[in-house]
Amino acid sequence: MPDTISPLSPEALAPALASLPSPVYAVDTDRLERNLEILDLVQKEAGCKILLAQKAFSFPPVYPQIGRRLAGTTASGLFEARLGFEEMPGKEVHVYKPAYLPGEVEALTHIAGHIIFNSFSEWLRWRDTALSAPEKPSCGIRVNPEYSTQQGHAIYDPCAPGSRLGVTAAEFKPELLDGLEGLHMHTLCEQGAEDLAATLPAFEEKFGRYLRRMKWLNLGGGHHITREGYNLPLLCREVRRLRETYGVEVYLEPGEAVALNAGFLSCRVLDVVRNGMEIAILDTSAACHMPDVLEMPYRPQIIGAGQPGEKAYTCRLGGPTCLAGDVIGDYSFDAPLTPGCQLVFTDMAIYSFCKNNTFNGMPLPALATLSRREGARLVKTFGYADFKGRLG
Ligand SMILES: *Cc1c(COP(=O)(O)O)cnc(C)c1O
Repeated sequence: MPDTISPLSPEALAPALASLPSPVYAVDTDRLERNLEILDLVQKEAGCKILLAQKAFSFPPVYPQIGRRLAGTTASGLFEARLGFEEMPGKEVHVYKPAYLPGEVEALTHIAGHIIFNSFSEWLRWRDTALSAPEKPSCGIRVNPEYSTQQGHAIYDPCAPGSRLGVTAAEFKPELLDGLEGLHMHTLCEQGAEDLAATLPAFEEKFGRYLRRMKWLNLGGGHHITREGYNLPLLCREVRRLRETYGVEVYLEPGEAVALNAGFLSCRVLDVVRNGMEIAILDTSAACHMPDVLEMPYRPQIIGAGQPGEKAYTCRLGGPTCLAGDVIGDYSFDAPLTPGCQLVFTDMAIYSFCKNNTFNGMPLPALATLSRREGARLVKTFGYADFKGRLG
């Protein structure tokens, strides 16, 4: 494991962010670099290419840093594709969307080298547009191996019964493969290499014979490559085996793994009320600024805080919106929370600010970068114009 970078310690984070506006997301470029080193190691060991899935993390100020390590970006449509094209110049741009809008594929041919379709009807609809484009994008189709490896998070399972994502073996049309150069498969979410290894036999049994005619295979995202304990050798072994067996180039397109644990959300307590327990109202909102806390759902970590009852003072944390369920969770602290107290949530780079909204007229948190060498640097603040601008 490479360890040439030593990021700011957890204890140093709150002071470093205290002078910035609140709330603020800070992307830690040292922690990001550590992730990128691991991903680069996989690229070299496995002989594959890794793309940033911008759906999870779109932050142009660090695209040059990411572009130094990864092969490029992948997008969920024209806007993300354009962001990757403009902000990571010269790197690969891939795009997959369950169904493209009129004009979208034509526009994508100018910026995306790889365009992936979700069905054979989509392929037939846009085949001529894609194949006749002067840029000659490489086209692929997403398949669904119908092999679920995840429990608990049904909304993140593209292999669940009735899923609209990817072509099942029953719907596969080998007679329409002319012009297609790649297969795409995305079935994992925050999972290990063991889950990929368990999925591959189902995928290969159903689609392996078509893969032999292809130039590339994209194994999607959900590979939690940069988390502690991830089985890197197994991932590299499986990727090498696929490359050798089928003669294809292999892509991985993780989002989470790129910026896992590489961002923080610093906020402050506005008020503390009582209703059978202490409840702190923060200047940040689960509904607006941590949508996955309610959607997934999960309980984010706070530096220096424990489980309820673990430390002396237990407190529920909620947002300043009118939504009763805008609750982040119950935590315990060494000292009672009081107005003005600063709290720092961890792992807030991914699926956070790229999913923000201004429900209830909530201001968007500021954006910053953070590193040991350069400290905290404010990148952007938002105001009333950002709220009004999207409302017409
Ligand atoms: C969401 C998604 C990704 C990224 O997934 P992570 O869980 O963030 O790694 C990659 N590819 C596709 C097609 C996706 O839908």
